[in-house]
Amino acid sequence: MKQYTDNNDRRSFLKRCFGTSCGFSATLLLSPLLARKAYGREVGGDKIGEKPFARIEKLHEGVYALISTPFTKDGKSGDLSTHSNGGLIIGKDKILAIDSYRTPAGASYMADACLAITGRLPTHVVNTHFHFDHLGGTRAFMRDNANPEVIMTQTTRELAFETYRKTVPHPDSPDLSISTLNKWGGYLSDASAIITDEGKPLTLDLGGRTVTITPMSGHTASDLVITDDLSGTTFGGDLIWDGIFPNFMSSLPSQWIKSVESILEKSEGVIVPGHGSVRKVNSASTKSYRSLLAEIENHARVSQHKGITSDQAAKEFKLAESLGNYSYFRNGFHEIAMAAWYGEINK
Ligand SMILES: [Zn+2]
Repeated sequence: MKQYTDNNDRRSFLKRCFGTSCGFSATLLLSPLLARKAYGREVGGDKIGEKPFARIEKLHEGVYALISTPFTKDGKSGDLSTHSNGGLIIGKDKILAIDSYRTPAGASYMADACLAITGRLPTHVVNTHFHFDHLGGTRAFMRDNANPEVIMTQTTRELAFETYRKTVPHPDSPDLSISTLNKWGGYLSDASAIITDEGKPLTLDLGGRTVTITPMSGHTASDLVITDDLSGTTFGGDLIWDGIFPNFMSSLPSQWIKSVESILEKSEGVIVPGHGSVRKVNSASTKSYRSLLAEIENHARVSQHKGITSDQAAKEFKLAESLGNYSYFRNGFHEIAMAAWYGEINK
């Protein structure tokens, strides 16, 4: 089994695996292929392109962010082709794509941009965590027989397979089943390189620049934070949200806060959130997000101490005006947040 070795301290972090389950870009297809507010609207870098569902911003030389804009102007759900943010870091030898969005159609926008900028497709794709809107479009980076190395942590890979192997009735033909990922327009592309040591950062040399991949957790059991060492740009995955209430569905809430504190403490450049606009580390929006996480925790602890249910606590939760405006992907996010905190407090 081939292993990568970290450039700095020679420890092995990445284990490349070959065999029936990984080492190739296997795609999980379990069924026939089927066919709010100001969220994400603030431009952080130089806009180089725009689609109804996203725009691409140049943040620094060789560093690009795709910022999804999945809501209509009146806050309704719009085009979810990409749904989440992602990025591109371009070295002399290698090109790293950060996340692969919700659908291949969405990821194609970034693949097209990469081709236009560099004449090549990404050589590496890293999935920050297992949620469908961050990994469903990987196959778009495999066009023209491209074979990018698909990197994820072992935990993320296990969670992705565990979650997306489940099937649900086909929306149009109840006799057929469809994987939950296919239902949302995505496809599961397997990892070809796995991060097995989830306790230490990994350095990836792209040629002329290095990228640090830091395993963390909190939004899910395994989250990756990607930093371009040259510009200090940090891609926070879904540990960082901007202007939208975060999803606690798979979370470890207290660990999430610790990870956010660590990111904000170490960040030297701009931060690309998993959802929302690119922000400076000291921006009012970033501070609001940190305060929001604290308010959610405080409300959960006080409510639990009073003996009320988590659903009741969710109903009573009001965002302080000082936090500014937050959008919601859908109803029920307060309930999910309180349930996550109650689960942790009652352990
Ligand atoms: Zn997520």
